[in-house]
Amino acid sequence: RETIKIGIVGYGNLGKGVRQAIKQNPDLELVAVFTRRDVASIKIDDEQVKVLHVNQAKEHVDAIDVMILCGGSATDLPEQGPFFAAMFNTVDSFDTHARIPEYFTAVNQVAEEHGKTSAISIGWDPGLFSLNRMLAQAILPAGREYTFWGPGVSQGHSDAIRRIPGVKGAVQYTIPVSEVIQSIREGENPELSTREKHLRDCYVVVEDGVDKEQIAESIKTMPNYFADYDTKVTFITEQELKEKHSQLPHGGFVIRSGKTGANQGNTHIMEFSLKLDSNPEFTASVLVAYARAVSRLNKEGQFGAKTVFDIPFGYLSAKSPAELRRELL
Ligand code: NDP
Repeated sequence: RETIKIGIVGYGNLGKGVRQAIKQNPDLELVAVFTRRDVASIKIDDEQVKVLHVNQAKEHVDAIDVMILCGGSATDLPEQGPFFAAMFNTVDSFDTHARIPEYFTAVNQVAEEHGKTSAISIGWDPGLFSLNRMLAQAILPAGREYTFWGPGVSQGHSDAIRRIPGVKGAVQYTIPVSEVIQSIREGENPELSTREKHLRDCYVVVEDGVDKEQIAESIKTMPNYFADYDTKVTFITEQELKEKHSQLPHGGFVIRSGKTGANQGNTHIMEFSLKLDSNPEFTASVLVAYARAVSRLNKEGQFGAKTVFDIPFGYLSAKSPAELRRELL
């Protein structure tokens, strides 16, 4: 079989994860990493990997089948998504849920116009969690579903703490409340407030001489980020932060509890869960599988933007439909 040629745009956590994930898939080949930074500043411990400036991407339109866009959702992807969809098939992990419809429209227009295929908002949430929410809703229309995140690091919340004057470093873990999950698994359908679903556990390093009580108070009362949650703040040393809190674990659950039968007397629980040592490495592994699907869809003439709902599951696999029927059905 021919290999699928991949380019990476943006070399942060996710970009690095994509490079690792490609190595586990013999049908995929990394052509180059593209960055907006000075190319010489990107250090990769593999001399085979070409690092180029993003401005050089247009010279590689014939050499790359799928460009995996690894920029941030806040400001990079709204610009890079439509820009690259005019030249390449793309996969991205745009995760600003509220803005997905407008992002879809922008990318779809460009991709359709240029005969390209773009998988948008791929990853685990949005992504695999979205698929499981949809599947459970379609199968159990009479029911209620819940998404819990964590235990895991929330980059946004960690950043919000770091912006408080006097704070030198911080990591925030989102923790699902296990008693509540247990009650859902047992068939109860509780109505839950934000505070009842997740706790926020913060590890904070402060500058010498600052008032820790006051910093803890500013964290706990911060609107949108912490005020609606039970928040725990622990002050630690810089050393501890580095040694114990430099990983990016994450995960969560999508659970739907549904009723069937004449008297709605039978309860069914559908659950999908993830426990990830590295959020970016796992997300990257999802992106890479969807790159394979995008390459196939494009060869079939299925152009435009696609989400996880539009892409047949079998297209993610390196195996043929016949192999899948034999081995996994
Ligand atoms: P990073 O902040 O690590 O990287 C984002 C971009 O920042 C890079 O592509 C890189 O582009 C640029 N950058 C600038 N300076 C640096 C630097 N010194 N070191 C590293 N990168 C730098 O973000 P992540 O890779 O962790 O996440 C990217 C996005 O992935 C997130 O915004 C999130 O939206 C999404 N995501 C989605 C998930 C899902 O389930 N759907 C799950 C996890 C993440 P350049 O090389 O051009 O400078």
